[in-house]
Amino acid sequence: MESMGIGIVGCAGRMGRMVARVVEETDLCALAGGTEYQGAPVIGQDLGELAGIGAKGLAVGDDPAALFAAADAVIDFTTPAALLVHAGLAKATKTVYVAGTTGLGGEHEAALTAAAAETAVMQAANMSLGVNLLLALVAQVSAALSPDYDIEILEMHHRHKVDAPSGTALALGRAAAAGRGVELEAVAQKVRDGVTGPRRPGDIGFATLRGGDAAGEHSVIFAGEGERLELTHKAGTREIFARGAVRAALWCRGQPAGRYTMRDVLGLER
Ligand code: NAD
Repeated sequence: MESMGIGIVGCAGRMGRMVARVVEETDLCALAGGTEYQGAPVIGQDLGELAGIGAKGLAVGDDPAALFAAADAVIDFTTPAALLVHAGLAKATKTVYVAGTTGLGGEHEAALTAAAAETAVMQAANMSLGVNLLLALVAQVSAALSPDYDIEILEMHHRHKVDAPSGTALALGRAAAAGRGVELEAVAQKVRDGVTGPRRPGDIGFATLRGGDAAGEHSVIFAGEGERLELTHKAGTREIFARGAVRAALWCRGQPAGRYTMRDVLGLER
């Protein structure tokens, strides 16, 4: 099979550089180019040198339209404002589009859905394969265990993180709640302090740890009488998100136009 040309918008970012490295070491795909915002100091630099993988003969550009025209797939870890432009280009050029940028609102969702009418669009706020498997496992386990098993979600992130609980912890909570057929907001216990009284049956509790440079750790604990089941994911590096994105791009090849998630990429049942 011919190699898939992958373009990277935001190629100088933490994720963009990582994606370039992963594309370079993955079979069946090759770098097709990269862009940054107009006026960025890296414009004109070699994409490979920027990513620390040696010169590739591809200069960082500032014209995303040209990149979408040249690439078979484009991977986006930029900003919500840039994603709006990129989603429009994916629609116009019918290029496979993998969007990992977070902080999206209604207009971004609408732009992704519009692009998905013309091409395969995969969007996920967490592209690590492990977290997406964990989401599915948590829903399954929660559905299988009786509500006598108390569910607690523990997460730890680096000291710079500004929100709590993490978006992934909340997604895990939603998966656990869905397994029980309830809405997370009705049962979530996000903070405990002082004399709280006994645990309310059916609650899903959260505990947040912050410190050091932890890339992201999540445990979902099912605590029953006499036994405890704990499902844990530990992110050691941002490379796992880049690997998920590249895997998604390859998976999208040959898929009909439509919106996809990492669950589709992994072949997990909805
Ligand atoms: P970053 O700030 O290091 O990188 C973003 C890059 O986008 C920068 O180099 C910036 O100059 C560039 N950019 C901004 N506007 C642009 C434009 N118009 N055209 C081209 N490039 C432009 O950030 P990061 O840590 O790489 O994260 C980027 C995004 O990805 C964030 O929204 C983050 O939350 C998200 N993220 C998602 C996942 C996931 O698994 N889905 C994982 C990690 C990060």
